[in-house]
Amino acid sequence: MDLNRGQTWHRFTDGPILIAGPCSAEREAQVLETARRLDLSRVHVFRAGIWKPRTKPGGFEGVGEIGLRWMARVREETGLRLATEVASPRHVEKALESDIDFLWLGARTTVNPFLVQEVAEALRGTDKVVLVKNPVNPDLALWVGALERLAARHIKNLGAIHRGFSTYEKTLYRNNPHWQIAIAFRKELPQIPLISDPSHISGRRDGIYEVAQQAFNLDFEGLMIETHCDPDHAWSDAEQQLTPEMLRDIIGRIELRNRCAEDSLYRTALYAMRSEIDDLDERLLELLSRRMKIAADIGRLKGENNVAILQPERWNAILKRTEKQGAQLGLSDEFLDSAFKAIHQASIDIQNRVMLEMSRDGVWEK
Ligand code: PEP
Ligand code: MN
Repeated sequence: MDLNRGQTWHRFTDGPILIAGPCSAEREAQVLETARRLDLSRVHVFRAGIWKPRTKPGGFEGVGEIGLRWMARVREETGLRLATEVASPRHVEKALESDIDFLWLGARTTVNPFLVQEVAEALRGTDKVVLVKNPVNPDLALWVGALERLAARHIKNLGAIHRGFSTYEKTLYRNNPHWQIAIAFRKELPQIPLISDPSHISGRRDGIYEVAQQAFNLDFEGLMIETHCDPDHAWSDAEQQLTPEMLRDIIGRIELRNRCAEDSLYRTALYAMRSEIDDLDERLLELLSRRMKIAADIGRLKGENNVAILQPERWNAILKRTEKQGAQLGLSDEFLDSAFKAIHQASIDIQNRVMLEMSRDGVWEK
């Protein structure tokens, strides 16, 4: 199966696809009440976790198969399609028996190629929709690799879910979005619909709108948002779940972006700005190349004088200076730090190479 083939499973709606429902199915009444309160003109798919992967043992690990029956009732009553997480061949078997429409691989499954392979074998040839959450760690290859394993087992209807990445440090997010990885995913697999999961990225009710809007600014195809009839008393992920009414409010506020606009003033202005950016990029590249040539000369000079490459005082002075100048120019510390670290590393690599060549050529023996 070709991952570059256009996907059409999400085209049953005109606009973006919206998947909503609780983190976990807890009780039949909770599942049904949540579904009944959803705005059926906006929500297309009802999600609920039946088997829950929990970080620590002893937490609520899901109600198991019985929850699939409750979900079937949701479909009967509301006509919503159904989605749940599968992490083993047994989950797949049970979910398929219950005719679940969307099956997703969770972040803790995508991270493990053995498991992905087993799930892919169990799903072989299915025409159900299979969505792959990004792995817990920021590794694009694992994410793409999981989709390749599914495609190799002739699973045709594929999609991906961006749910952010774990970090050791406490940040604003429960799972750091690392938007650049989602963008790189899109670049590598442009035909795979990308759905945002702002609930697991944000981890907080009040952060969901912003992440969801950002996803649409980046032209994502849909959202998966955890929604619960009584979020404060949810058995898992209580802080991040919305009530169906909050979900309605957030969805109403989100602005969808067009992929392009016909307006000729817009087009001319965009063309002009893009040409300016292209021009600046060209100059940036020339400057970087000049900087690297000087770094090579410095490497030669240090080599001839038998001086170590790394000079921490010099590096600190550069960082201080660029931080100060950059701030005056309106550039963020974070950006300067990562940009100059990359430049510094490249300079060190070049100096290293020059010195290695010198010792190979016997310059030091002379
Ligand atoms: C979930 O969707 O409830 C879930 C467990 O997600 P993730 O795999 O993204 O942690
Ligand atoms: Mn959850």
